[in-house]
Amino acid sequence: MSDAVRSSPTSGAAGSGPASGAAGSGPAGDEITAPWWEATREGRLLLQCCLACGHTQHYPRALCTGCGGTDLGWRESAGRGSVDSYTVVHRSPSPEHPAPYVVARVRLDEGPVLLTNLIGATDWRCDQRVRLAWRELDDGRRLPVFVSDPP
Ligand SMILES: [Zn+2]
Repeated sequence: MSDAVRSSPTSGAAGSGPASGAAGSGPAGDEITAPWWEATREGRLLLQCCLACGHTQHYPRALCTGCGGTDLGWRESAGRGSVDSYTVVHRSPSPEHPAPYVVARVRLDEGPVLLTNLIGATDWRCDQRVRLAWRELDDGRRLPVFVSDPP
């Protein structure tokens, strides 16, 4: 199933490298990732899927990593998964990211793995079930983060 996604390009800083540098800013999108970023404004986590072989992948790419095809669409993740690996960062490289915080690989039930943050709990373990939450960025886009499920 392919969702209709607005194709309006991000205005202004798109493609111009690091944006304002302000806290809460995200990376600029490009022509491949723009639909993914736009969907985050609506709280929808998209996964790229190959219309030739059915492979689902994240992050968005120009080619299918399963068959090399270029006929790619989107499906919406249900936002459920499990912790594949994680680490607790106690020394932040930046004042924008106060420590401690948790960096994790989350394996979505649809298959792809996201590099993300875990929030809310303190007793994380591998294989723990998690569900999608969102962190707001300054420009209205959002970053997918995960919370324990059940809390
Ligand atoms: Zn494919």
